[in-house]
Amino acid sequence: MLVVQKYGGTSVGSLDLIRNVAHRVKKTKEEGHDVIVVVSAMGRTTDELLKMAYTLSSSPPERELDMLASTGEQVSIALLSIALHDLGCPAISLTGAQAGIITDSLFTRARIVRMDTWKIGEELSKGKVVIVAGFQGMNEKGEITTLGRGGSDTTAVALAAAMKADVCEIYTDVDGVFTADPRIVPEARKLREITYDEMLEMAIAGAKVLQHRAVEFAKRFSVPLHVRSSFNYNEGTWVKEEISMERRGVVTGVTVDKKIAKVTLLGVPDIPGIAHKFTKALAESGINIDMIIQSEPRGGYNDISFTIGEGDLEKAMKILKELSDEIGAEGVTGDKEVAKVSIVGAGVCSNPEIPAIMFGTLAENNINIELISTSEVRISCVIREAKADTAVRALHKAFKLEEE
Ligand code: ASP
Ligand code: MG
Repeated sequence: MLVVQKYGGTSVGSLDLIRNVAHRVKKTKEEGHDVIVVVSAMGRTTDELLKMAYTLSSSPPERELDMLASTGEQVSIALLSIALHDLGCPAISLTGAQAGIITDSLFTRARIVRMDTWKIGEELSKGKVVIVAGFQGMNEKGEITTLGRGGSDTTAVALAAAMKADVCEIYTDVDGVFTADPRIVPEARKLREITYDEMLEMAIAGAKVLQHRAVEFAKRFSVPLHVRSSFNYNEGTWVKEEISMERRGVVTGVTVDKKIAKVTLLGVPDIPGIAHKFTKALAESGINIDMIIQSEPRGGYNDISFTIGEGDLEKAMKILKELSDEIGAEGVTGDKEVAKVSIVGAGVCSNPEIPAIMFGTLAENNINIELISTSEVRISCVIREAKADTAVRALHKAFKLEEE
């Protein structure tokens, strides 16, 4: 078998932990498998590196941010390779560029466009464990790029797809994917399996176990994912196309994303082209918009609200203030004290009782809903951030997610 294993930052957070990972990798190798390992930077290294950049400048050049952030993974691949050598297990570390991960040129959030994996194949055939730096690649001009926060997951899945691996194991500090964040809901239950679509919606809605691009990739190339802990040998959660449907109710999990902000354009003239203008302006700056709602016009004007990532708020406000003058709007407000709670499950929107239960549960807890959006497998509500944990606990209970 060819196995791709990805170890996240918490799994390689110290030298002892790196040695632990080396033992696990060696064990897999000794079971007779070919092994490609992808690692993240140690612990909070990426945060610390970026913090240094923002201490020197409020708007560091994105090329240099990638140059800087990519060093974190370079440290962990080399250390893991050294630890494996020390255990007598032949290994070689490769940067993203050396591994042949070619991306576009969108620094800090690049997308993989091509994989030239001949070098990986060559090293595997020499019997070596190949260790690849997560989160990074190289554009066609040879510049180092990074794949967005949490991008090591995407590196692992892309390698698994390109190399036709039998499984892609995602190692983390929890036992798998849970019905809710166990730190918020102690009764949360580990899911044995989940579909790509559900996992994708959970990732988009704030579940932090997997980067959503990694799930997209896994779905597109049918890569079976196994999310599990690097601290024990328990079976984790399988993410795949089909799962046994009779095993549970229509709701699979509750997620929360506190790192969002709500922006409102006030008193916008009710004429064609306005939504296009502001979405285009934000898109040009690489700002993703999530939920959008527009009120019924009153006297020729309406309000438009939407959500963005908290980190984009400053940039968005600057763009929108200018635009609001230009289009003759009353003004624009930004609010970071909001959170998005979502319920996810294959049957969420085909079952009319589900939204009623969700909104009813929030009402019972005196929680006001500010924005709502739905997809085929998700319903999300924006509420006050201070009420987010209460909402998650109440919804988890209302949908009886603690029961198998
Ligand atoms: N080290 C990067 C980050 O912290 C990539 C990753 O861990 O997946 O976002
Ligand atoms: Mg991660």
